[in-house]
Order: sequence, then C-alpha cells, then structure tokens
Amino acid sequence: MSTDDQDQIIAAAQARWEAAQAARAAERSAAEQEQRLAAQAAEDSLSRFLQTAQAKTAAFEAELAALPPSVECKRHPGSNAVLNHEASLEAGRAVYRCPTCAGDRAATARERRLIGSGIPSDVRHATLANFRTDRPNVVQGTPAEFVRIGQAIMDGTARNAILAGTTGIGKGHIAAAVAVARLDAGWPVAWVECSTLFRAVHRSYSENGPDSIYHRYIAANLLVLDEIALRALPADGEEILFTILDGRHKAGTQTILLSNETLPTVREWLGGRIRDRLNSGKVLRHYGDWASMRGEEADAASDKF
Ligand SMILES: [Zn+2]
Repeated sequence: MSTDDQDQIIAAAQARWEAAQAARAAERSAAEQEQRLAAQAAEDSLSRFLQTAQAKTAAFEAELAALPPSVECKRHPGSNAVLNHEASLEAGRAVYRCPTCAGDRAATARERRLIGSGIPSDVRHATLANFRTDRPNVVQGTPAEFVRIGQAIMDGTARNAILAGTTGIGKGHIAAAVAVARLDAGWPVAWVECSTLFRAVHRSYSENGPDSIYHRYIAANLLVLDEIALRALPADGEEILFTILDGRHKAGTQTILLSNETLPTVREWLGGRIRDRLNSGKVLRHYGDWASMRGEEADAASDKF
C-alpha cells in the first residue's frame, strides 16, 4: 500500500470520527433542549396551578367573608355557632362551631371515661362535699371519719384505705368521690369487684393470659377494689390480689378497698402477704354502722321502690 493510500484511509477514518462526534453533540444538545423545555413546562404548569389555587383560595376567602360570622346551632336553638376561619380553609367548606355542641362532646368523652373506669353509675354524682355526715342510727364508727379518710386519699397523705361497714352507709360514695375527682384530673382510674376480677383472670387462662388484666389494674392511678371478703377466696385469689397490690406498692399508687364485712374479717381474708403490701404505704381504715342512705335523695335516687 502506498503512503497516499494510507493517508486517504486515515483521513477518511478521521472524518468518520469527527462526523460521529458532531452527531453525538447534536444529539446531546437536542436532549438538553428537550429537558429545558420539559422543565419550563413543569414550571409553567406549577405556577399556573399555584395561581389557580391562590385564585380559588381568594374566592373561597371572599365567600367566607360574605357568610354570617355566626348562626344559630340547628341542634341547640339559642346557641350561636361561630364561623371558624382556619377549620373552614382546612375543610374547604364553611365550618361553624357551636360551643354547646363542643360541650356535649366533652361531656360524652367524660361519660365514656366514667363507664370505662368501672365506677358504678349510682355513685358517679358523689363528691366529698355532698356526703351526708348527719346519719341517723349510728351504731359504730362516724360518718365524718369516712370523709376524713377520703380527703387523705384525695390529698395523697395516705396511700391505701379500707372502708368497711354495713350496706348503704356510703363506702362507695366516698370511694367514688375520690375516683371521679382523679378521673376528671385526667388520671386512669379503675374500679372492680373482686369476683369480677377473679372471673376475668380465670377466663384469661384459656385466652391470652392475665398480663393485660394485671397491667390495667396496676397502671390505674387509683384502684377501687369492691366486695372484699364477700365470698371465700378462689384458689388463686391471694396470688391475683398480691400481684396487683404488689405492683401498685412498687408504683406507689393508691388503692381503696371496700367491704361489707368487719375489719378483722377483711384482715383475715386478705392474708399477711397482702396486708404487708398495704401497710407499707400506710393504710387508713374505718368500720361504720349507721342507717343506710340507699334510695335517699342524697344518693340521687329519690324514687324508692
Ligand atoms: Zn350545637
């Protein structure tokens, strides 16, 4: 091959390479241009979208401004529902808020918490102030001492209390007064009859076990254990009560025990291990025997059967 031939081949190869380079550059530039256009289009569409949204918001604001600032609540004649600007913008429609409706919702939430706590419905009205201390036929103890013990639990100066005595003397009233006040202060409260507790634990043995039951009654800021010593303890009764009261002792939380039996009977029923846990947190106790207030007006059930 001559030198000329070689030069021609090299020149042709060089030209091909340069042509390919140029083609690639053109391709790149076209792609870049396409990207620029796409970005521009996206930007335009976003800005159009924002403009539309702004226009819509402005129109909606104008619409809101034209509405009456308050209207009478449909559910509560006489109660003014006020136009809530922020809530309206969020919902995309006019939102009127009635304070009576809001109060109803709060009352419903409280009712739900009261029911969930287990506080019996017949004592949910109880306060320490509306406990009648002028009871007739006082045979043993004093009604005022019940109030004093309730106050000590309320104030936190005592950790545990046993209120014992004949039926209808107001043990549940005192316990409920403390429990409702605690619940209204936002604390978890639990109230359970011993027989119900034992049944729940027994049922749990064939389900998920008793841990969640124990947790509930240990975690409550105030626990009321009702019907202490009403029936003989089941085989695992002492273990169940000890687990809960030991957990509460460690957490430093308060427990009120209610019983229709005498204090010596309650003492024997609970046993040494449980008494030890109650005593280490100071346990106030009182036995009362005076006329029943059940069905009286003070118990909000004036219609005697
Ligand atoms: Zn209303």
